[in-house]
Amino acid sequence: MITRRGVLLFIPAIVLHAQSTANVRGRLRQQPDLPPALTTKEGKVILLDGDQDTAGVLRDERLKDGDFEANGHYVAPDRFVIDPIHTRSLFIWRNGKKLVITYWCDVCAIRGWTPGLCRCCQQPMELDPRDPALKDTEPSN
Ligand SMILES: [Zn+2]
Repeated sequence: MITRRGVLLFIPAIVLHAQSTANVRGRLRQQPDLPPALTTKEGKVILLDGDQDTAGVLRDERLKDGDFEANGHYVAPDRFVIDPIHTRSLFIWRNGKKLVITYWCDVCAIRGWTPGLCRCCQQPMELDPRDPALKDTEPSN
């Protein structure tokens, strides 16, 4: 019985994993009493989900109401799970350019992928959206 249950739990995981990557774009909603979501230009609200670091970005108030884009996959018509943080799947559009969302400590020259304190000097990291083609070690400008 235990083995059979294990197999049944395993199958949905494979199906989810096999789904091809999609993306969503819209205005990022941040309301304290509601889960993060975006509103597409067609006016459709899509709830956003992801790992802990991704959730940190979704709740970064500096991105509120921004023209936001993310890679991931739909788990329901109105529910989108963003790919893990290490896949660099979070973007903001500014001046017609798609920029990957990063965080930067100028003092230590350390780049991060979720808001919070610099792991070196413990000061808050700056939001630093930048060209996705840049390597992690390259400066933004
Ligand atoms: Zn630092």
